[in-house]
Amino acid sequence: MRRPPVRGGPPFFFLVGGKRKGKVWGGRWRRTFANRMNFSSQLIEKAVEAFASLPGIGRKTALRLVLHLLKQEPATTERFAAALLAMRAGIRECRICHNLSDAEVCRICADPRRDRALVCVVENIRDLMAIEDTGQYRGLYHVLGGIISPMEGVGPDQLNITSLLQRVSEGEIKEVIMAISPTIEGETTAFYLSRQLAPSGVLVSAIARGVAFGGQLEYADEITLARSILARLPYSK
Ligand SMILES: [Zn+2]
Repeated sequence: MRRPPVRGGPPFFFLVGGKRKGKVWGGRWRRTFANRMNFSSQLIEKAVEAFASLPGIGRKTALRLVLHLLKQEPATTERFAAALLAMRAGIRECRICHNLSDAEVCRICADPRRDRALVCVVENIRDLMAIEDTGQYRGLYHVLGGIISPMEGVGPDQLNITSLLQRVSEGEIKEVIMAISPTIEGETTAFYLSRQLAPSGVLVSAIARGVAFGGQLEYADEITLARSILARLPYSK
């Protein structure tokens, strides 16, 4: 896909010597010149830089956000900044499950309606939120804080595995559900966990893997399809 042309185009001296066939202005020129914005205010420039340091926010979007805030009442920016500062200062890790929490124990762990015999092991807080959003799970969680990845130098010691084994050893947990992404690293982690949990005698299960809802069989990859056949379930609506 061709990128939309940069407004104003490259400076004249860049064009001297002719444009090579098929070369679209972008790349180096865009990185070096197009992102250079002329700010009349250093205060705005700093605010734009702050927004642009966030993932997925480019300088143009950052500028739009800054200008939007400037159009609002000063109190809007104060509330915005205060919310960020309060979040950063007050947030902590749940002592039990390592979820993000306002208190020592998170809202899920503290909820008496939750099934304390079930623990769902997830890689990170985003996965926990995704499962929570389904509204189908009423047990507790355990956030590993990553997965075993020798390539990235992450070993079992860097993950919240000891605290999981500790929780299981307390005896209340009857089933550990591994909701870990089916990647090579995820499988390695799940295998390691199952080995570590085996002596406790707790039931270890894994979320179902198979053909995605709304997907078509002929387009499913071989591994997914093979697993779907092997891990078939009794039919129920
Ligand atoms: Zn918790």
